[in-house]
Amino acid sequence: MPYEIRRAAVIGAGTMGAGIAAQIANAGIPVDLLDIVPDDAKASTDRAARDRVAQSGLDRAIKMKPVSAFYAPADARLVTIGNIEDDMGRLAQADWIVEAVFERLDVKHATYERVEAVRRPDSIVSSNTSGIPARLLTEGRSESFRRHFLITHFFNPVRFLKLLELVPGAETEPEVVTYLGQFGTARLGKGTVVCKDTPGFIGNRIANYGFLATLRRALAEGYGFDEVDAILGEPMGRPRSAIFGTADIAGIDILVDVANGLYRNLPDDPFRETFKLPDFVRAMIANKWLGNKTGQGFYIREKQQGGKRKISVLDPATMTYRESERAQFASLNAVKEIADPLERVKILINETDRAGRLAWETTADNLVYAATIGPDITDDVQSIDDAIRWGFNYEVGPFQTWDYLGVEAVARRLEAEGRAVPALARQVLGNGQGRFYTTTAPKSYYDFRRAAYVALPAGSEPLRLAAVRAGNKVIKENKSASLLDLGDGVLLLEFHTKLNSLNDELIRALRESVDDAKSRGRALVIGNEAADYSAGADLAQLLLAAKMRQWSIIDRVTRAFQDANLALKYADVPVVAAPAGRALGGGCEIIMHSQHARAAIESYIGLVETGVGLIPAGGGCKEMLTRWSQGTPDKGPFASARHVFEIVAVATVSTSARQAQGYRFLRKTDRMTFDRERLLSDAKADAIELADKAARGEWKKPEPPTFLLGGAGARLVLRQQAENLQLAGLASEHDVVVADHLARVLTGGDCRPGQPLTEQDILDLEREAFVSLIGTAKTQERIQYTLSTGQPLRN
Ligand code: NAD
Repeated sequence: MPYEIRRAAVIGAGTMGAGIAAQIANAGIPVDLLDIVPDDAKASTDRAARDRVAQSGLDRAIKMKPVSAFYAPADARLVTIGNIEDDMGRLAQADWIVEAVFERLDVKHATYERVEAVRRPDSIVSSNTSGIPARLLTEGRSESFRRHFLITHFFNPVRFLKLLELVPGAETEPEVVTYLGQFGTARLGKGTVVCKDTPGFIGNRIANYGFLATLRRALAEGYGFDEVDAILGEPMGRPRSAIFGTADIAGIDILVDVANGLYRNLPDDPFRETFKLPDFVRAMIANKWLGNKTGQGFYIREKQQGGKRKISVLDPATMTYRESERAQFASLNAVKEIADPLERVKILINETDRAGRLAWETTADNLVYAATIGPDITDDVQSIDDAIRWGFNYEVGPFQTWDYLGVEAVARRLEAEGRAVPALARQVLGNGQGRFYTTTAPKSYYDFRRAAYVALPAGSEPLRLAAVRAGNKVIKENKSASLLDLGDGVLLLEFHTKLNSLNDELIRALRESVDDAKSRGRALVIGNEAADYSAGADLAQLLLAAKMRQWSIIDRVTRAFQDANLALKYADVPVVAAPAGRALGGGCEIIMHSQHARAAIESYIGLVETGVGLIPAGGGCKEMLTRWSQGTPDKGPFASARHVFEIVAVATVSTSARQAQGYRFLRKTDRMTFDRERLLSDAKADAIELADKAARGEWKKPEPPTFLLGGAGARLVLRQQAENLQLAGLASEHDVVVADHLARVLTGGDCRPGQPLTEQDILDLEREAFVSLIGTAKTQERIQYTLSTGQPLRN
């Protein structure tokens, strides 16, 4: 019987268990979440009291900050809480049982004994342990249990960290590992890697070594922690929080536990001494300087009066804090504008200033360690690179870095410095290819077990724009956008302004891309690989025009954007928007005018214009009115306006693509991709599917809608809502002014109730309101404030 997870159960509703249950529910799968009965409820028959621990785990997941663990509130209903005394029988229904109790072998053993008594013989059982070997976990269990058992190691927070390590035991059926690998990717949106049953698996072993090796270098060579973070963060293709900022986020106690475990359990690791903690780190633990969760760690971050932030950094010699400085280096400035992280690394490690030296030493440490222990922890180089990218948000993994720098060149430099070259590096140098990944087709990666290259499965590599560019497929390009040929008749328009904000150059490119798609191809995708799809209008450009009182220019640019959006909507070839990250204001309007969307599940979509004292004027009000007048139970001219008003007046942003469907920023027919790396591949596949349908006459562009709206009377009712909020102290006077303009657009301006209006009528109302609002001092103040702080101003 093939495996299929239709129902799951999680035991242990702590940080990880609740997060895992939420992610299973996000996949649309019902899940039981059980925890212990608290001591004070042991004698009670009150279910609420007995389920209290699981309930509070679920509540924490729902209220997780800054974003819930659930994609949409309705998903939380798929979680049924319970306790391990009353509800173990429910496990008989589970196809997958996940254990996420305390990290103690005795507690885990006791749990499995009870699971064994109730589980179905074909159910999969897994542990989320971070450090206990699979062989110890299954001691004393039946053969059926051992065959269906493996470690599924998720990372915290489960919703956001992509890495899922799978660690089979010696007797785990290979089909169980294969199935969970596919399930983890397709349903849970994770990147799965298979690890050997060794301490720290892949991610924690390599990352913890990297952290401690860097810490040792910093101490030995006198680098400040802030200086290290300035050098080893974004410039080296790592998160901005770099080394010590990331340690504060993860928790120093967690890092120390992992390091102690690795030291204890890796007696033969040639770099074992690195896992021995420096004394000052022990002092940090004793002082409870555990990072962000206790308010101080390597850094203290304080908000001062007036909202300014003060960051202090620890001096380990004195165990006191000094004000943190952003270190300046010529070498870092030189790589600032280089988009490719590998190229930045290559340049930096050859610089001779302090930044360059640290970049080389720590890169060498990491490359040597990965190549030394690689074959002990997994079967191939790709699993290690993937684990580091997905678990720790590095842009590139160690073996990709080795290849880019040149295995030979790095080996020579190591030798010149009297350092040993790992056997694995010598092996790939000796075997003819001299690389860990081949560049010739079929693209292959180095497999340790076979000591040979193994081809990547066909189609497994997602579409990457760098490869499209390298293949000379740029059709045209300016400073703000590029039009690329993805092949198969599909063109892609890529934005590349700061935060992908929409300026007039980009709007022109948008308009032209529709014509180009028709003349040169059969479908258009609008997407990019940036963290944010688009933050909306270029506010700096708008504010400048407003300060110069260039109202007709503002009107013209707004109109050009409306026209471009209409061109997307009525294009003769299918247009597919592919958002990920933030898609705000104008970014949201582009998605709504595209004929189809393929959104990354982690998409934060919304019409946020009221936050800066404006209203959506690229057709956003019009599209929302259209969408809310379809299939809404309480019909009538006023119903759609009221729904849209309630969403747009408060600048609602969805916390996932799923939630965006609820607000109708996305349609029910739009599709979602869980794996961000596959978004553009999936969008292209959708575009081809629609183009094929068009060729068969099964796809038609939409018909223009007609609007029946309530007119001035309806506008008054909406305005009243805003005034009530003002009376309650929840809205300012200018909020009411903005809301009134929005209400005027949504109710059709001065139309008679029921008088049919066209799309252009609503667009004209949008523009009129927009130009009028941007002329007000309060709106200009809001824009200025948002530009300088990134925050909204409620004036
Ligand atoms: P936690 O302390 O937040 O939660 C553990 C939960 O297990 C608690 O709610 C506790 O009441 C419950 N529990 C204890 N004994 C139980 C029993 N017999 N039956 C049912 N529930 C019981 O811990 P956590 O951070 O969620 O860690 C859980 C597991 O995940 C551990 O094995 C840990 O090593 C691993 N892990 C943790 C992280 C992390 O970052 N926190 C990351 C990966 C893996």
